[in-house]
Amino acid sequence: MATATLPRTRTKKLTPHHEKVEILRAAVFHTPRNPFSDATALATFTDGALAICAGRIAACGDYIAVRAQYPDAMVRDLRGGCILPGLIDTHVHFPQLRITGGLGHSLPDWLDMVALPEETRMADPARARAVAREFVHGLASHGTTTALVFGAHFAEATAELFEAASRRGLRLISGLVLSDRLLSPCLLQTTDAAWRDSTSLIERYHGTGRLSYAVTPRFAASASEPMLEVCQTLLRENPSLIFTTHINENLAEIEQVTLLFPQASDYLAVYEKYDLIGRRSVLAHSVHTDAAQLARLAAQNACIAHCPCSNAALGSGIFPMRRHLDSQVRFALGTDIGAGTGFGLLKEALQAYLLQRIAPEPITLSAAQMLWLATRAGAEALSLEEETGDFTVGKAADLVYFRPSPGTTLHAVLANTDEPERILAALLTLAGPDSVGEVRVEGDTVFEGTP
Ligand SMILES: [Zn+2]
Repeated sequence: MATATLPRTRTKKLTPHHEKVEILRAAVFHTPRNPFSDATALATFTDGALAICAGRIAACGDYIAVRAQYPDAMVRDLRGGCILPGLIDTHVHFPQLRITGGLGHSLPDWLDMVALPEETRMADPARARAVAREFVHGLASHGTTTALVFGAHFAEATAELFEAASRRGLRLISGLVLSDRLLSPCLLQTTDAAWRDSTSLIERYHGTGRLSYAVTPRFAASASEPMLEVCQTLLRENPSLIFTTHINENLAEIEQVTLLFPQASDYLAVYEKYDLIGRRSVLAHSVHTDAAQLARLAAQNACIAHCPCSNAALGSGIFPMRRHLDSQVRFALGTDIGAGTGFGLLKEALQAYLLQRIAPEPITLSAAQMLWLATRAGAEALSLEEETGDFTVGKAADLVYFRPSPGTTLHAVLANTDEPERILAALLTLAGPDSVGEVRVEGDTVFEGTP
């Protein structure tokens, strides 16, 4: 039986005298507080700086003040660009990278015709290794430093993902995807194999470096009650694991779950029966969640991974953000590759903004709220808010530096405004992977853009 050990939260380090301090000078934005409840939550420093020592944030503020605090530090002048906390993706599927862009489907036929056939190919470890490399590169090159990732239905392929993330230095939470019915036979496990392979991966990777493990049944429809019981057992044996799955994405899917679990009062109740819902649960989509389920999600402090590009691409519906806010259900962003349209979390935040403008109960998200959803909200979803998600002193130096290239629209906009909210909104609207200059996790560079 696995023992859980988890150095997930680090104590704040004092700056040792022998450690060098590095200062990055640029416009700096972060949301150490929640802008949905605090109008002053956005911290902005247009001539700002981050001081980094031993992989941790030593200071964050106006350049002059940070420089005065560390007069001997080496300074990198990155003015003209912007530094944000490393982006956090709370829902993305590793085996689906190569089918991204399969448009023209709704969830059930997209699964049958596009996604699941590709997922069966992960039985080949060589292919899985290649896709894992492409996947971690996709995350890092878009400024994503932390991700909660659906692994493969195969233990070896899932191990390849952990290995690739470890080599790259990304903060990654993933798990073997569990299913024992309704999918193609090669994607199914017995409950014994599910427990055994999950336990082996947990022992190997959970709490190792920047990796941790998530119990990941694909969704209720493909998991029988005995398989959900295996998930319950794994979480009881290892209370520091994350639990992640899908919920209330598509109306046909919900009807199928209702037929498969006639005793359950609703979709959420299927998971609740096995104690799977709580502070460490991340449930993707929640597009069609009713008031009763929202009230229970809030009471249990569960978190939703909101994936607006995927929801629109598959025609699943518009996320009822207003109802989630009114019910006090937490949510963060997920790209949901391959149903989603790319690895960019800022694009995901923009899509959330666009869809909420025209939702039946509309909301106009502020730039601060969009940044929060792409960073600190994700850290809270994954119980990593003591470690990452903003630039509070002592946290890991997880960051993305955006450097707009001359000649781009983003460059033209940023060169002509000093107003912090407008700079941030322009970044959220226009910054694609071409403007990612550098990405760091705990101070270590995990991606450098071409100059
Ligand atoms: Zn998904």
